[in-house]
Formats: sequence, structure tokens, C-alpha cells
Amino acid sequence: MNGVTHLVTGYFLARLFRPGKGAERYRHDSFPAVFTAIAATLPDIDSSIGIPHAQATHTILGALALAFVFTGVVFAMGSPFLREARLSFVQLLVLAVAGVSSHLFLDVFTYYGGTCVGSPAHVYFWPLWNQSFHLDCIIDATPPVYAARVLVEWAFYSPFLLVLLVDRGIKHKENPFAMLYPASWLRGTADPEFTSRPRPVKASLVLLGIVCAAVVVLQVAGIVFVDLAGLL
Ligand SMILES: [Zn+2]
Repeated sequence: MNGVTHLVTGYFLARLFRPGKGAERYRHDSFPAVFTAIAATLPDIDSSIGIPHAQATHTILGALALAFVFTGVVFAMGSPFLREARLSFVQLLVLAVAGVSSHLFLDVFTYYGGTCVGSPAHVYFWPLWNQSFHLDCIIDATPPVYAARVLVEWAFYSPFLLVLLVDRGIKHKENPFAMLYPASWLRGTADPEFTSRPRPVKASLVLLGIVCAAVVVLQVAGIVFVDLAGLL
């Protein structure tokens, strides 16, 4: 699946997790929204960091390790703000695991262009079971499996986009891009005024913004320099 599909799925997952009183923390412009959206793209960071695509990071073990490392870095960088927003390590870890799990699930519908037997891609249950999971293995069709992938992608993607743009956007006046603005992560907390925050909270907010931006830039760089270069 493409990065945007993963990102949007993660964003919606964060909004589905509305545990009791904490609903405010899961607003459209909250930190969990952007955190889960980014977590959902994490397995595809492999090309950006120079390891073979869809292999180590596309196993349950690898994806869980990524979720754990990402949560750890975010927690280390953003503790003062996360305390303020009443977000615990475990809550973030649950969101990160939900994000990477959605990635592996959606990637089942990816066309790999190879044979299922002996393929090193999407071997989710490694090292217990060396079965590869991608569309070629589910649909036994000569061509056009790639067209099937695009169809599945759009069938999955369109309702989400409609909800995002029409229901949440036009009807509820929510701008999903607001989640990219760190100051908005404080909305819904006791004191939403960014200017009145103590310095450690502001500093951790900025650091979290940098961590999130760095992961996104790395992902985009991977697509531009590695994937596109491979096509040339
Ligand atoms: Zn992937």
C-alpha cells in the first residue's frame, strides 16, 4: 500500500481509540493522531535506512521492534509535554502497535510481482512460518494482479477520504493538517495556551515536532531517492 493510505489509516485508528475520559486527547489535531499516523508508515522506513524493502521491518517481530523504538524515542524527547497531555508510555505503545499492525494488514493487499514460494517479502510470521503475504498469493490470476491491487487500494481508500473531507472536514470543520502543528497538540489539555507553558513543555513539544518531521522526511526521501531511482 502507498504511504498516504497508511498515514490516513493510522490517523483514523488514533481517533477510534477513545478510552473513556481521555477522548479529548484523541481529537483530530491531537498528538496521538499524528503519532499513530506516522507509526502506521514506519515499516516502510526500510528503504530509507538502506535495508531491503518489505523484509525485516515487515515481520511481526520487526514491526513491534519499530513500534517500541519509536515510542521510546518519542517518550524520551517529549516527557514534559506528554505528562501535561496525560499520555503514558503504554498508551503510546498501544497506538504505535495499532499503527504498525494496520501497515502489515494493508500490505497483504500489495502486489509484489514475485512468486509466493520462497519470496523474502512480507514473511510476517518469521522465523516461525516462512509464508509470504501479498496479493499475488491470495489471487491466483495471471495478469492483472497489479490492477487488482490498485482496485483494492481505492476501494479501501475512498470511504476514508470521503469521511475525512466531507464528514469531518466540511461538516465538523476539522482540518486534518492541523495535527501537523505542534502547538495544536495542547488543545484539549487543561491550559491550551501555548504561550503560558513552562519552558520544558515548550522545548519537548518542539523536539517532538522535530522527531515527527524527521521520520516523515526520511520516508519521503526513501520514496524519492530509492524507489524512484529504482524505476530509472
Ligand atoms: Zn509496507
